[in-house]
Amino acid sequence: RVREGGGGRYEIFSEAMRVSAGKRLQLEMDLRKALDAGEIGVHYQPIVSLADGQLRGMEALARWRHPELGMVPPMEFIPVAEETGQIVSLGHFVLRRACTKLAELQRRYPGVEALTMNVNISGAQFARPEFADEVREVIEETGIRPGSLKLELTESVIMADARKAVDSIRALRDLGVHVVIDDFGTGYSSLSYLQRFPVSCLKVDRSFVLTMADTKGNREIVKTIIKMAHSLGLEVVAEGVEQAEQLEILAGLSCESGQGFLFSKPLDDQDLDILLHERLGSV
Ligand code: C2E
Ligand code: MG
Ligand code: MG
Ligand code: MG
Repeated sequence: RVREGGGGRYEIFSEAMRVSAGKRLQLEMDLRKALDAGEIGVHYQPIVSLADGQLRGMEALARWRHPELGMVPPMEFIPVAEETGQIVSLGHFVLRRACTKLAELQRRYPGVEALTMNVNISGAQFARPEFADEVREVIEETGIRPGSLKLELTESVIMADARKAVDSIRALRDLGVHVVIDDFGTGYSSLSYLQRFPVSCLKVDRSFVLTMADTKGNREIVKTIIKMAHSLGLEVVAEGVEQAEQLEILAGLSCESGQGFLFSKPLDDQDLDILLHERLGSV
């Protein structure tokens, strides 16, 4: 990125980096206290069936309400947490919170049993030998159905140690949980390679969906990804669906589900309650 820009852009870029380096340092220091201070929360973004608009499940997304900076986006604090290793405790917190939430929803709403909860898993978490045990403990503690938990791994996390990943994913599958490939298309792996891993679902990255309606090339890519995924027996979720036109195209390509602002932004506990109340009716 730096080299592309030439002289002028290089200076602008390094200026931006200097500013963000200072902020990063602050985030790094503050993040140490954030979990204990109760500043980390979780929002939930609905995932809906494209054929009939029905709610299929949701994705748990970490949120940081910084006492001075306000809401810090995950794009800023997740990389910091990954660098410092704090992602392990943060990720575990999100996993436990999300499963607790799902268990609570299953108690309160009839008909919610079929809903699934997606949770993002970082490389550092996935690489831990005790990771599958930790997932099993959270499932037992919260009492959720293992099949209702979907762990999202990016291609790069899987590819970092592909040999080990096969065994680690199998250990998770043995628990009954699902493994989902997140942000598909942004890495360098091919779908035919990824079929070695016992995953059940693939999420097409938002960047493809974004320009699908106006760029024929991207539309063909999405079409090919969906076709290949189906031929490998994988379900497909499209990320970042914002326009009705995208929904139409995706539904036409038999993409099972979608997630995006067209359906709903990520919701806090209260707004999730309102949505579920409308859709399902509480007891
Ligand atoms: P992701 O896992 O791909 O999550 C989807 C992101 O796309 C979310 O951003 C969501 O708010 C955003 N999004 C959904 N629909 C739309 C749309 O229609 N338009 C646009 N522009 N954006 C949409 P968010 O919450 O900011 O999270 C960003 C990333 O941070 C996530 O991408 C994930 O990689 C990471 N992240 C978030 N929470 C966690 C976590 O608990 N653990 C880990 N390891 N990573 C997390
Ligand atoms: Mg995700
Ligand atoms: Mg994603
Ligand atoms: Mg993405």
